[in-house]
Amino acid sequence: MTARNTKAKAMILESLKRSKAVTSHETLQKALKGKADRATIYRVLNRFCDDGIVHKIVGDDGKQYFAVCVNCQGKKHNHNHFHFRCLGCGKVECLAGEVGFKLPKGYRSENFNGFISGYCALCS
Ligand SMILES: [Zn+2]
Ligand SMILES: [Zn+2]
Ligand SMILES: [Zn+2]
Repeated sequence: MTARNTKAKAMILESLKRSKAVTSHETLQKALKGKADRATIYRVLNRFCDDGIVHKIVGDDGKQYFAVCVNCQGKKHNHNHFHFRCLGCGKVECLAGEVGFKLPKGYRSENFNGFISGYCALCS
């Protein structure tokens, strides 16, 4: 990576950590105020996914969202939790707690993508 990319990487990580909630590509681009272009942000986010720093979620609106991982670094992503998108304020968050589900006999899960949209505690 070039020095510019390294700088973008640091800025994106800082922004992700500061926001705490789940962030989208657009939100990041706004937060960085044009200091990193679209392609760079995509590249950095995908790298973070590979490194176990963030996990990627595809919302019910078809958009990609990114959230900071807990305990994934150097390991396989493990996120058996639901994500929630508020239709009122637009906030997306990781819902704490594993989701238990039962699959038919002989089935094995590799990925879990649970997404709920509705209204958060502040908006309902
Ligand atoms: Zn992860
Ligand atoms: Zn809300
Ligand atoms: Zn999550």
